[in-house]
Amino acid sequence: AALSPDSLPPPRDELLGGLLSPNFDPTSCLSRFQSSSFRPPSPHLPSPYLLSRLRRYEALHKKCAPGTKLYQKSIRELKSDRFSTSNSSSPCNYIVWIPHYGLGNRVVSLVSSFFFALLNNRVLLIYETEEIKDLFCEPFPGTSWVLPSDFPISNLESFDRDSKRSYGNLIRRNAVTSLPAYVYLHLPWYYDGFDRLFFCEEEQRNLRHVPWVLLKSDHYFVPALFLVREYEEELRRLFPERTTVFHHLVRYLLHPSNNVWGHAMRYYHAYLAKADSRVGIQIRNLKNEPVTFDYLLDQIVGCSLKEGVLPAVVAGNGKKSLKSYSDEKVKAVFMTSLDVRYYERVRSMYYEKATTTGEVVAVYEPGHEVEQKTEDQGHNVRAMAEIVLLSFSDKLVTTACSTFGYVAQGLSGVVPLVMLKPWKSNGAACRWAESPEPCYLIPPTNVCNQRSGFNKKMAKNVRQCEDETGGVKLF
Ligand code: GDP
Repeated sequence: AALSPDSLPPPRDELLGGLLSPNFDPTSCLSRFQSSSFRPPSPHLPSPYLLSRLRRYEALHKKCAPGTKLYQKSIRELKSDRFSTSNSSSPCNYIVWIPHYGLGNRVVSLVSSFFFALLNNRVLLIYETEEIKDLFCEPFPGTSWVLPSDFPISNLESFDRDSKRSYGNLIRRNAVTSLPAYVYLHLPWYYDGFDRLFFCEEEQRNLRHVPWVLLKSDHYFVPALFLVREYEEELRRLFPERTTVFHHLVRYLLHPSNNVWGHAMRYYHAYLAKADSRVGIQIRNLKNEPVTFDYLLDQIVGCSLKEGVLPAVVAGNGKKSLKSYSDEKVKAVFMTSLDVRYYERVRSMYYEKATTTGEVVAVYEPGHEVEQKTEDQGHNVRAMAEIVLLSFSDKLVTTACSTFGYVAQGLSGVVPLVMLKPWKSNGAACRWAESPEPCYLIPPTNVCNQRSGFNKKMAKNVRQCEDETGGVKLF
Protein backbone atom coordinates (compact mmCIF):
# COMPACT_ATOMS: atom_id res chain seq x y z
CA ALA A 1 0.00 0.00 0.00
CA ALA A 2 1.14 3.54 -0.70
CA LEU A 3 2.43 5.41 2.32
CA SER A 4 0.39 8.44 3.21
CA PRO A 5 2.45 11.48 4.26
CA ASP A 6 1.27 10.93 7.82
CA SER A 7 2.72 7.46 7.99
CA LEU A 8 6.16 8.49 6.76
CA PRO A 9 8.83 8.54 9.43
CA PRO A 10 9.76 12.07 10.50
CA PRO A 11 12.74 13.42 8.55
CA ARG A 12 15.98 12.79 10.36
CA ASP A 13 17.87 15.86 11.40
CA GLU A 14 21.06 14.85 9.65
CA LEU A 15 22.58 18.30 9.85
CA LEU A 16 21.90 18.63 13.58
CA GLY A 17 19.79 21.76 13.42
CA GLY A 18 22.12 23.36 10.87
CA LEU A 19 25.27 22.71 12.89
CA LEU A 20 26.80 20.69 10.08
CA SER A 21 27.58 22.14 6.69
CA PRO A 22 25.68 20.46 3.86
CA ASN A 23 28.72 20.90 1.61
CA PHE A 24 30.14 17.44 2.14
CA ASP A 25 30.09 14.28 0.11
CA PRO A 26 27.94 12.01 2.33
CA THR A 27 29.95 8.91 1.43
CA SER A 28 33.34 10.31 2.45
CA CYS A 29 32.57 10.17 6.14
CA LEU A 30 29.60 7.98 6.99
CA SER A 31 29.28 9.00 10.62
CA ARG A 32 28.78 12.65 9.76
CA PHE A 33 25.27 12.24 8.42
CA GLN A 34 24.38 8.94 10.09
CA SER A 35 25.05 9.73 13.75
CA SER A 36 21.71 11.43 14.29
CA SER A 37 19.88 8.17 13.52
CA PHE A 38 21.52 6.38 16.43
CA ARG A 39 21.62 8.98 19.16
CA PRO A 40 18.64 10.13 21.18
CA PRO A 41 17.23 13.30 19.55
CA SER A 42 18.87 16.41 20.99
CA PRO A 43 16.56 18.74 22.91
CA HIS A 44 18.98 21.61 22.19
CA LEU A 45 19.02 23.72 19.04
CA PRO A 46 22.15 25.71 18.19
CA SER A 47 21.62 29.47 17.99
CA PRO A 48 21.34 31.01 14.49
CA TYR A 49 24.33 33.16 15.39
CA LEU A 50 26.48 30.11 16.16
CA LEU A 51 25.49 28.68 12.79
CA SER A 52 26.52 31.85 10.98
CA ARG A 53 29.83 31.99 12.87
CA LEU A 54 30.56 28.36 11.98
CA ARG A 55 29.93 29.08 8.29
CA ARG A 56 32.21 32.11 8.60
CA TYR A 57 34.84 29.99 10.29
CA GLU A 58 34.64 27.42 7.50
CA ALA A 59 35.22 30.14 4.89
CA LEU A 60 38.21 31.48 6.82
CA HIS A 61 39.66 28.01 7.22
CA LYS A 62 39.39 27.36 3.52
CA LYS A 63 41.09 30.66 2.74
CA CYS A 64 44.01 30.07 5.10
CA ALA A 65 44.38 26.28 5.03
CA PRO A 66 47.59 24.47 4.14
CA GLY A 67 48.19 24.72 0.40
CA THR A 68 46.87 28.27 0.04
CA LYS A 69 48.97 31.34 -0.76
CA LEU A 70 48.06 32.89 2.58
CA TYR A 71 49.29 29.79 4.39
CA GLN A 72 52.61 29.94 2.51
CA LYS A 73 52.99 33.56 3.48
CA SER A 74 52.34 32.79 7.14
CA ILE A 75 54.86 29.95 7.00
CA ARG A 76 57.48 32.32 5.58
CA GLU A 77 56.86 34.67 8.49
CA LEU A 78 57.14 31.80 10.90
CA LYS A 79 60.44 30.64 9.37
CA SER A 80 61.98 34.06 9.69
CA ASP A 81 60.43 34.27 13.15
CA ARG A 82 59.66 37.85 12.34
CA PHE A 83 56.46 39.64 11.77
CA SER A 84 55.40 43.14 12.41
CA THR A 85 52.02 44.05 13.74
CA SER A 86 51.96 47.02 11.38
CA ASN A 87 52.12 44.96 8.22
CA SER A 88 50.26 41.92 9.50
CA SER A 89 47.54 42.42 6.96
CA SER A 90 47.08 38.67 6.57
CA PRO A 91 43.68 37.54 7.79
CA CYS A 92 45.24 34.23 8.80
CA ASN A 93 46.24 33.50 12.36
CA TYR A 94 46.59 29.93 13.50
CA ILE A 95 46.31 27.67 16.47
CA VAL A 96 48.13 24.35 16.26
CA TRP A 97 46.69 21.77 18.62
CA ILE A 98 49.17 19.30 20.13
CA PRO A 99 47.63 16.01 21.33
CA HIS A 100 48.29 15.08 24.93
CA TYR A 101 47.24 12.22 27.24
CA GLY A 102 44.28 9.88 26.76
CA LEU A 103 41.65 10.01 24.06
CA GLY A 104 39.02 11.75 26.20
CA ASN A 105 41.58 14.34 27.29
CA ARG A 106 42.45 14.91 23.67
CA VAL A 107 38.88 15.43 22.58
CA VAL A 108 37.99 17.88 25.35
CA SER A 109 41.16 19.91 24.74
CA LEU A 110 40.62 19.82 20.98
CA VAL A 111 37.08 21.15 21.37
CA SER A 112 38.37 23.84 23.75
CA SER A 113 41.01 24.81 21.20
CA PHE A 114 38.37 25.11 18.51
CA PHE A 115 36.30 27.27 20.85
CA PHE A 116 39.31 29.54 21.34
CA ALA A 117 39.92 29.60 17.57
CA LEU A 118 36.30 30.54 16.88
CA LEU A 119 36.37 33.39 19.39
CA ASN A 120 39.62 34.78 18.01
CA ASN A 121 39.19 34.13 14.30
CA ARG A 122 42.09 31.72 14.30
CA VAL A 123 42.39 28.70 12.06
CA LEU A 124 42.64 25.40 13.92
CA LEU A 125 45.20 22.89 12.65
CA ILE A 126 45.96 19.59 14.32
CA TYR A 127 49.35 18.03 14.78
CA GLU A 128 48.41 14.53 13.70
CA THR A 129 50.67 12.04 15.42
CA GLU A 130 50.61 8.39 14.29
CA GLU A 131 48.32 7.20 17.05
CA ILE A 132 45.52 9.60 16.24
CA LYS A 133 45.59 8.97 12.50
CA ASP A 134 42.36 7.56 11.13
CA LEU A 135 40.28 8.41 14.19
CA PHE A 136 38.36 11.41 12.89
CA CYS A 137 37.09 12.79 9.60
CA GLU A 138 37.92 16.24 8.33
CA PRO A 139 35.44 18.59 10.01
CA PHE A 140 35.56 21.55 7.62
CA PRO A 141 34.23 21.29 4.06
CA GLY A 142 36.57 21.48 1.07
CA THR A 143 39.76 21.79 3.09
CA SER A 144 41.96 20.10 5.69
CA TRP A 145 42.77 20.68 9.33
CA VAL A 146 45.87 18.47 9.35
CA LEU A 147 49.15 20.31 9.87
CA PRO A 148 51.39 19.38 6.91
CA SER A 149 54.42 17.24 7.72
CA ASP A 150 56.77 19.91 6.37
CA PHE A 151 55.70 22.38 9.05
CA PRO A 152 58.96 24.15 9.97
CA ILE A 153 58.76 23.35 13.68
CA SER A 154 59.23 19.64 14.32
CA ASN A 155 58.67 17.49 17.40
CA LEU A 156 55.79 19.55 18.60
CA GLU A 157 55.06 17.06 21.35
CA SER A 158 58.35 17.99 23.01
CA PHE A 159 57.08 21.46 23.86
CA ASP A 160 56.50 21.51 27.58
CA ARG A 161 56.73 23.65 30.68
CA ASP A 162 60.42 24.37 30.21
CA SER A 163 60.15 25.56 26.63
CA LYS A 164 61.62 29.01 26.18
CA ARG A 165 58.76 29.86 23.89
CA SER A 166 56.04 29.00 26.34
CA TYR A 167 53.93 32.06 26.90
CA GLY A 168 54.23 31.61 30.66
CA ASN A 169 58.02 31.69 30.41
CA LEU A 170 57.92 34.76 28.18
CA ILE A 171 55.88 36.55 30.81
CA ARG A 172 58.19 35.29 33.56
CA ARG A 173 61.15 36.77 31.68
CA ASN A 174 59.26 39.97 30.97
CA ALA A 175 59.74 39.29 27.30
CA VAL A 176 56.21 39.91 26.09
CA THR A 177 56.99 43.35 24.75
CA SER A 178 58.47 41.87 21.59
CA LEU A 179 56.20 39.01 20.71
CA PRO A 180 57.66 36.49 18.29
CA ALA A 181 55.92 34.88 15.31
CA TYR A 182 54.87 31.97 17.45
CA VAL A 183 54.34 31.08 21.07
CA TYR A 184 53.60 27.86 22.85
CA LEU A 185 50.68 27.80 25.27
CA HIS A 186 51.32 25.31 28.02
CA LEU A 187 47.96 24.34 29.51
CA PRO A 188 48.13 20.72 30.78
CA TRP A 189 47.21 20.05 34.42
CA TYR A 190 50.78 20.80 35.52
CA TYR A 191 50.69 24.40 34.26
CA ASP A 192 52.00 27.04 36.61
CA GLY A 193 50.85 30.51 37.66
CA PHE A 194 52.51 32.16 34.67
CA ASP A 195 51.00 29.73 32.16
CA ARG A 196 47.60 30.38 33.71
CA LEU A 197 47.81 34.06 32.93
CA PHE A 198 46.66 32.96 29.47
CA PHE A 199 43.13 33.26 30.84
CA CYS A 200 43.48 36.92 31.79
CA GLU A 201 42.10 39.69 29.62
CA GLU A 202 45.40 41.43 29.05
CA GLU A 203 47.12 38.27 27.79
CA GLN A 204 44.16 37.38 25.62
CA ARG A 205 44.55 40.76 23.97
CA ASN A 206 48.35 40.45 23.58
CA LEU A 207 48.07 37.02 22.07
CA ARG A 208 45.85 38.35 19.34
CA HIS A 209 49.00 39.79 17.75
CA VAL A 210 50.78 36.46 17.54
CA PRO A 211 50.11 34.70 14.21
CA TRP A 212 51.02 31.20 15.37
CA VAL A 213 49.91 29.74 18.67
CA LEU A 214 50.88 26.17 19.55
CA LEU A 215 48.66 24.76 22.27
CA LYS A 216 48.97 21.71 24.49
CA SER A 217 46.31 20.90 27.04
CA ASP A 218 44.53 17.88 28.45
CA HIS A 219 41.50 19.70 29.79
CA TYR A 220 38.21 21.29 28.93
CA PHE A 221 39.28 24.89 29.48
CA VAL A 222 36.21 26.55 27.92
CA PRO A 223 34.66 27.67 31.25
CA ALA A 224 37.65 29.93 31.98
CA LEU A 225 37.22 31.79 28.69
CA PHE A 226 33.67 32.64 29.75
CA LEU A 227 35.23 34.79 32.44
CA VAL A 228 37.02 37.09 30.00
CA ARG A 229 34.95 40.27 29.86
CA GLU A 230 35.71 40.96 26.24
CA TYR A 231 34.09 37.71 25.12
CA GLU A 232 30.91 38.13 27.18
CA GLU A 233 28.65 39.63 24.56
CA GLU A 234 29.87 37.35 21.79
CA LEU A 235 29.40 34.28 23.98
CA ARG A 236 25.90 35.31 24.95
CA ARG A 237 25.00 35.43 21.28
CA LEU A 238 26.82 32.22 20.38
CA PHE A 239 25.52 30.19 23.29
CA PRO A 240 22.35 31.61 24.82
CA GLU A 241 22.17 28.22 26.55
CA ARG A 242 25.60 28.01 28.17
CA THR A 243 25.34 24.38 29.13
CA THR A 244 25.21 23.27 25.51
CA VAL A 245 28.66 24.53 24.42
CA PHE A 246 30.36 21.15 24.47
CA HIS A 247 27.32 19.29 23.15
CA HIS A 248 27.16 21.50 20.07
CA LEU A 249 30.88 21.86 19.44
CA VAL A 250 31.82 18.22 19.91
CA ARG A 251 29.05 17.14 17.53
CA TYR A 252 30.18 19.78 15.07
CA LEU A 253 33.85 18.92 15.20
CA LEU A 254 34.11 15.24 15.89
CA HIS A 255 33.08 12.75 13.28
CA PRO A 256 34.49 9.28 13.80
CA SER A 257 36.40 7.95 10.79
CA ASN A 258 34.82 5.21 8.66
CA ASN A 259 37.10 2.74 10.43
CA VAL A 260 35.85 3.74 13.91
CA TRP A 261 32.28 3.99 12.64
CA GLY A 262 32.55 0.48 11.14
CA HIS A 263 33.54 -0.91 14.54
CA ALA A 264 30.65 0.91 16.22
CA MET A 265 28.10 -0.12 13.58
CA ARG A 266 29.06 -3.81 13.60
CA TYR A 267 28.82 -3.93 17.36
CA TYR A 268 25.62 -1.92 17.52
CA HIS A 269 23.81 -4.06 14.97
CA ALA A 270 25.09 -7.31 16.47
CA TYR A 271 24.12 -6.57 20.08
CA LEU A 272 22.29 -3.34 20.73
CA ALA A 273 20.01 -2.43 17.84
CA LYS A 274 17.14 -4.76 18.64
CA ALA A 275 16.85 -3.87 22.30
CA ASP A 276 13.90 -1.76 23.45
CA SER A 277 16.13 0.55 25.48
CA ARG A 278 19.86 1.08 25.97
CA VAL A 279 21.86 1.97 29.06
CA GLY A 280 25.55 2.90 28.82
CA ILE A 281 27.80 2.37 31.84
CA GLN A 282 31.29 3.84 31.68
CA ILE A 283 33.60 2.71 34.44
CA ARG A 284 36.96 4.31 35.06
CA ASN A 285 38.92 3.70 38.22
CA LEU A 286 41.52 6.44 37.93
CA LYS A 287 45.00 5.38 39.01
CA ASN A 288 45.74 8.59 40.87
CA GLU A 289 42.56 8.34 42.95
CA PRO A 290 41.62 4.65 43.05
CA VAL A 291 38.73 3.09 44.94
CA THR A 292 38.41 -0.64 45.58
CA PHE A 293 36.69 -2.90 43.07
CA ASP A 294 33.94 -3.84 45.53
CA TYR A 295 33.28 -0.24 46.45
CA LEU A 296 32.88 0.87 42.85
CA LEU A 297 30.78 -2.16 41.90
CA ASP A 298 28.40 -1.59 44.82
CA GLN A 299 28.21 2.07 43.96
CA ILE A 300 27.38 1.43 40.30
CA VAL A 301 24.82 -1.27 40.94
CA GLY A 302 23.31 0.39 44.03
CA CYS A 303 22.96 3.81 42.41
CA SER A 304 21.68 2.49 39.10
CA LEU A 305 18.96 0.49 40.89
CA LYS A 306 18.03 3.33 43.21
CA GLU A 307 17.81 5.86 40.41
CA GLY A 308 15.80 3.55 38.17
CA VAL A 309 18.49 3.20 35.52
CA LEU A 310 18.61 -0.57 36.00
CA PRO A 311 15.72 -2.77 37.16
CA ALA A 312 15.94 -4.52 40.52
CA VAL A 313 16.28 -8.30 40.71
CA VAL A 314 14.50 -10.95 42.74
CA ALA A 315 15.81 -14.36 43.65
CA GLY A 316 15.32 -17.08 41.05
CA ASN A 317 12.60 -16.71 38.48
CA GLY A 318 10.49 -14.25 40.44
CA LYS A 319 6.74 -14.33 40.14
CA LYS A 320 6.70 -14.40 36.39
CA SER A 321 5.39 -17.26 34.46
CA LEU A 322 8.29 -18.53 32.38
CA LYS A 323 6.04 -18.71 29.35
CA SER A 324 5.62 -14.96 29.07
CA TYR A 325 9.30 -14.24 28.45
CA SER A 326 8.86 -14.13 24.70
CA ASP A 327 7.14 -10.78 24.72
CA GLU A 328 9.20 -9.08 27.41
CA LYS A 329 11.06 -5.86 26.80
CA VAL A 330 14.81 -6.15 26.41
CA LYS A 331 17.12 -3.61 28.00
CA ALA A 332 20.65 -3.64 26.61
CA VAL A 333 23.35 -2.56 29.03
CA PHE A 334 26.53 -1.54 27.28
CA MET A 335 29.53 -1.38 29.59
CA THR A 336 33.04 -0.03 29.05
CA SER A 337 35.92 -0.47 31.43
CA LEU A 338 39.56 -1.51 31.50
CA ASP A 339 38.54 -4.05 34.17
CA VAL A 340 36.33 -6.86 32.89
CA ARG A 341 35.13 -7.90 36.35
CA TYR A 342 32.43 -5.20 36.55
CA TYR A 343 30.85 -6.50 33.39
CA GLU A 344 31.06 -10.11 34.57
CA ARG A 345 29.34 -9.29 37.83
CA VAL A 346 26.52 -7.25 36.34
CA ARG A 347 25.94 -9.85 33.63
CA SER A 348 25.77 -12.65 36.22
CA MET A 349 23.33 -10.67 38.31
CA TYR A 350 20.80 -10.53 35.49
CA TYR A 351 21.48 -14.10 34.39
CA GLU A 352 20.97 -15.62 37.80
CA LYS A 353 17.97 -13.57 38.85
CA ALA A 354 14.80 -12.21 37.29
CA THR A 355 13.96 -8.52 37.27
CA THR A 356 11.06 -7.13 39.25
CA THR A 357 9.83 -5.30 36.16
CA GLY A 358 9.89 -8.45 34.07
CA GLU A 359 12.34 -6.82 31.67
CA VAL A 360 15.14 -8.93 30.28
CA VAL A 361 18.53 -7.32 30.74
CA ALA A 362 21.29 -8.14 28.27
CA VAL A 363 24.75 -7.00 29.35
CA TYR A 364 27.60 -6.41 26.90
CA GLU A 365 31.15 -5.19 26.89
CA PRO A 366 33.17 -5.13 23.67
CA GLY A 367 36.89 -5.44 24.26
CA HIS A 368 38.94 -5.90 27.32
CA GLU A 369 41.84 -3.57 26.83
CA VAL A 370 43.05 -3.98 30.43
CA GLU A 371 45.55 -1.14 30.14
CA GLN A 372 45.59 2.38 28.84
CA LYS A 373 47.70 2.41 25.64
CA THR A 374 47.43 5.93 24.36
CA GLU A 375 50.28 5.44 21.88
CA ASP A 376 48.63 2.49 20.11
CA GLN A 377 46.46 3.50 17.15
CA GLY A 378 44.35 0.28 17.07
CA HIS A 379 43.64 0.67 20.76
CA ASN A 380 42.50 4.24 20.17
CA VAL A 381 40.18 3.16 17.34
CA ARG A 382 38.51 0.67 19.70
CA ALA A 383 38.36 3.22 22.51
CA MET A 384 36.76 5.78 20.18
CA ALA A 385 34.24 3.19 18.96
CA GLU A 386 33.29 2.56 22.60
CA ILE A 387 32.76 6.26 23.22
CA VAL A 388 30.55 6.36 20.13
CA LEU A 389 28.56 3.33 21.33
CA LEU A 390 28.11 4.89 24.77
CA SER A 391 26.70 7.97 23.05
CA PHE A 392 23.88 5.85 21.58
CA SER A 393 22.47 5.20 25.07
CA ASP A 394 19.14 6.49 26.33
CA LYS A 395 20.60 6.63 29.83
CA LEU A 396 24.21 7.01 30.87
CA VAL A 397 26.11 6.11 34.01
CA THR A 398 29.63 7.56 34.26
CA THR A 399 32.43 7.70 36.79
CA ALA A 400 33.76 10.92 38.34
CA CYS A 401 36.41 12.98 36.59
CA SER A 402 36.73 10.82 33.48
CA THR A 403 37.05 12.70 30.21
CA PHE A 404 36.20 9.42 28.41
CA GLY A 405 32.71 9.69 29.89
CA TYR A 406 32.54 13.45 29.25
CA VAL A 407 32.94 12.90 25.51
CA ALA A 408 30.17 10.28 25.43
CA GLN A 409 27.74 12.52 27.33
CA GLY A 410 28.61 15.49 25.11
CA LEU A 411 28.02 13.56 21.91
CA SER A 412 24.69 12.23 23.12
CA GLY A 413 23.49 15.28 25.04
CA VAL A 414 22.30 12.91 27.76
CA VAL A 415 22.75 14.03 31.36
CA PRO A 416 24.60 11.21 33.12
CA LEU A 417 24.27 9.65 36.55
CA VAL A 418 27.76 10.23 37.96
CA MET A 419 29.49 7.94 40.45
CA LEU A 420 31.22 10.23 42.94
CA LYS A 421 34.51 9.83 44.81
CA PRO A 422 33.63 9.00 48.42
CA TRP A 423 35.98 11.67 49.79
CA LYS A 424 34.52 14.41 47.61
CA SER A 425 30.82 13.81 47.80
CA ASN A 426 29.48 14.69 51.25
CA GLY A 427 28.22 11.17 51.66
CA ALA A 428 26.30 10.87 48.38
CA ALA A 429 27.29 7.86 46.29
CA CYS A 430 26.12 9.40 43.03
CA ARG A 431 24.40 12.39 41.51
CA TRP A 432 22.69 13.27 38.27
CA ALA A 433 24.84 15.81 36.47
CA GLU A 434 23.19 19.14 35.80
CA SER A 435 24.12 19.16 32.12
CA PRO A 436 26.23 17.27 29.59
CA GLU A 437 29.01 19.85 29.99
CA PRO A 438 32.41 18.48 31.03
CA CYS A 439 34.13 19.67 34.17
CA TYR A 440 37.23 21.86 33.94
CA LEU A 441 39.01 19.71 36.49
CA ILE A 442 41.99 21.94 37.32
CA PRO A 443 40.91 25.50 36.57
CA PRO A 444 43.10 28.58 37.01
CA THR A 445 41.51 30.00 40.14
CA ASN A 446 42.97 33.11 41.77
CA VAL A 447 44.98 33.91 38.74
CA CYS A 448 43.87 37.28 37.42
CA ASN A 449 42.84 38.61 40.79
CA GLN A 450 44.46 41.96 40.68
CA ARG A 451 43.98 42.44 37.03
CA SER A 452 40.46 41.50 36.19
CA GLY A 453 38.47 40.21 39.10
CA PHE A 454 38.38 36.63 37.80
CA ASN A 455 37.04 35.30 41.06
CA LYS A 456 34.18 37.70 41.49
CA LYS A 457 32.78 36.74 38.14
CA MET A 458 33.13 33.02 38.68
CA ALA A 459 29.71 32.73 40.22
CA LYS A 460 27.97 34.21 37.22
CA ASN A 461 28.75 31.61 34.60
CA VAL A 462 30.40 28.68 36.32
CA ARG A 463 29.95 26.62 39.43
CA GLN A 464 31.59 23.73 41.20
CA CYS A 465 31.43 20.42 39.33
CA GLU A 466 29.37 17.53 40.66
CA ASP A 467 32.38 15.21 40.51
CA GLU A 468 35.34 17.41 41.47
CA THR A 469 35.29 19.90 44.33
CA GLY A 470 38.11 21.98 42.82
CA GLY A 471 36.67 21.84 39.30
CA VAL A 472 34.30 24.27 37.58
CA LYS A 473 31.69 23.83 34.90
CA LEU A 474 29.40 26.10 32.95
CA PHE A 475 25.87 26.39 34.20
P1 GDP B 1 40.23 9.62 31.39
O1 GDP B 1 41.65 9.30 31.76
O2 GDP B 1 39.24 8.72 32.06
O3 GDP B 1 39.93 11.07 31.59
O4 GDP B 1 40.01 9.30 29.84
P2 GDP B 1 41.00 9.33 28.63
O5 GDP B 1 40.22 8.84 27.46
O6 GDP B 1 41.64 10.65 28.48
O7 GDP B 1 42.17 8.32 28.98
C1 GDP B 1 41.92 7.02 29.26
C2 GDP B 1 42.45 6.09 28.19
O8 GDP B 1 42.47 4.78 28.72
C3 GDP B 1 41.51 6.04 26.99
O9 GDP B 1 41.82 6.95 26.00
C4 GDP B 1 41.70 4.61 26.55
O10 GDP B 1 42.91 4.51 25.84
C5 GDP B 1 41.84 3.88 27.86
N1 GDP B 1 40.54 3.54 28.43
C6 GDP B 1 40.03 3.96 29.61
N2 GDP B 1 38.80 3.42 29.80
C7 GDP B 1 38.55 2.68 28.72
C8 GDP B 1 37.44 1.88 28.31
O11 GDP B 1 36.43 1.76 28.99
N3 GDP B 1 37.52 1.28 27.10
C9 GDP B 1 38.63 1.40 26.30
N4 GDP B 1 38.65 0.78 25.12
N5 GDP B 1 39.69 2.13 26.67
C10 GDP B 1 39.65 2.77 27.83
